[in-house]
Amino acid sequence: MPDVAQPSGTGPRPLRVAVVGAGPAGIYAAEALAAQDDVPVAVDLIDRLPTPFGLVRHGIAPDHRKMRALRETLHHTLDHERVRFVGNVEVGLDLSIAELRRHVDAVVYTYGAAGDRALGVPGEELPGSLAATDVVAWYCGHPDADRARVEEAVARARDVVVVGVGNVALDVARVLVRSPAELDPTEMPQHVLDALAAAPVERVTVLGRRGPAQATFTTQELRELGHLADATVLVDPADLTDPGDDALAAGDRHVARNLAVLHEYAAHTAEPGRPVVRLRFHARPVRLLGTDRVTGVEVERTTVDADGRATGTGELDVVPADLVVRSVGYRGHPLPGLPLDGGTVPHRAGRVLREGEISPGEYVAGWIKRGPTGVVGTNKHDARETVASLLADAATERLHTGGDPDDLVRALQARGAQPVLLADWRAIDAAEVALGATRGRDRTTLHERAALLAAVRAAAVPGVALDRGTADSTP
Ligand SMILES: Cc1cc2nc3c(=O)[nH]c(=O)nc-3n(C[C@H](O)[C@H](O)[C@H](O)COP(=O)(O)OP(=O)(O)OC[C@H]3O[C@@H](n4cnc5c(N)ncnc54)[C@H](O)[C@@H]3O)c2cc1C
Repeated sequence: MPDVAQPSGTGPRPLRVAVVGAGPAGIYAAEALAAQDDVPVAVDLIDRLPTPFGLVRHGIAPDHRKMRALRETLHHTLDHERVRFVGNVEVGLDLSIAELRRHVDAVVYTYGAAGDRALGVPGEELPGSLAATDVVAWYCGHPDADRARVEEAVARARDVVVVGVGNVALDVARVLVRSPAELDPTEMPQHVLDALAAAPVERVTVLGRRGPAQATFTTQELRELGHLADATVLVDPADLTDPGDDALAAGDRHVARNLAVLHEYAAHTAEPGRPVVRLRFHARPVRLLGTDRVTGVEVERTTVDADGRATGTGELDVVPADLVVRSVGYRGHPLPGLPLDGGTVPHRAGRVLREGEISPGEYVAGWIKRGPTGVVGTNKHDARETVASLLADAATERLHTGGDPDDLVRALQARGAQPVLLADWRAIDAAEVALGATRGRDRTTLHERAALLAAVRAAAVPGVALDRGTADSTP
């Protein structure tokens, strides 16, 4: 059993801080706290999952292997002597905010914004209509993924419509048409690789409500579509003729680069037997068609005004679809006992506001602070701002230290929780690497909570065989 003692700072009584969510924002907040020398600190980095890294593990596309390697940098903070990873503990479920606050001097909420946004059109609830959050969770091996629902839809997915033109929409489109050879080296669980290899995908239509100049995907993600081994990307040249787009491109290099790539794609032609990814702009979904399950999307052509607003023209057509994936943004959900306003926690420079007043000892960073925007690195600056506020408060009367000195982990264990600490996470890590090695991969994600916790148990009791949950976690 790993030592559960709280890491100590350099002084007799470190400032105790709990960070709720071990995604990038939480890890960067822990890093900023651990790296400073003004105040001795002891940080508990709590996550509801037995694994750290948030969307770096369960969001960034598995075929973006370099990007996912960011975990190695983030891991330095987990290894820091002032930081203790406390996984498998859900704040709001395993312990309330009030209970947590009794153990620490300050709490930094970094629990992300993992909820999906709806399209708000009829037919959205039909079988075969999924949120990108569902599909991404599934292909990344998130323990809470609704595997049966996603696999049922993927197995029938000849015609796919992805609604949205951000990077996540392109991730989903790309993963669905990647060849088995391209996906094989990734960390995807074997059952995901098998389901994607068997998926009958022939056409993926990506719908943008507005014009190509308003698309939010990055040029890098757009370019990547042009290098797929087994799929051709197409764009209708008619979507690229709006003189307003050229005017926007003249003043915005990002738009100019995107348009240049889209013009290249407009010269492509479909090849018989090769799947296509068609990027369509000025196309607003009006409703999803079908009775028992989705069969298509009724789309209305739009025009975009000078302020970038789309207006329907009344011109309708139908795109056939066996699978519709909406990728129109993420949304924060409430944590019991914490205010939420429009999907984010109200704050002033990272200090949580309750009824407009600063709530001493409570802070917020990352997506749940500023909304679901920006890349991983954006959370670093964001977390630093929050930690600067926290440390400034620690230097004044505003942050009262004291409270219940009982150790948080011991208290959790006493009430029957099974916190996963750093050594336990290392056991999971080793089990994933070992599982991957059986197929010549760097790692294979363990996708079930039972399998993750079994890896912890197996390491704690040498000689006990690794129970991997159900058989499909095995190679
Ligand atoms: C599909 C997708 C792909 C992306 N791809 C890229 C990319 O390629 N490159 C890039 O730079 N950025 C990418 N991003 C953006 C990047 O992932 C985010 O900027 C970043 O993860 C946000 O960090 P966060 O810590 O605020 O939230 P998260 O990463 O969501 O972390 C929140 C953590 O809180 C935990 N948690 C939630 N509720 C509780 C609770 N009640 N108690 C305890 N813990 C809790 C969660 O388990 C999670 O670990 C992508 C985002 C998505 C959605």
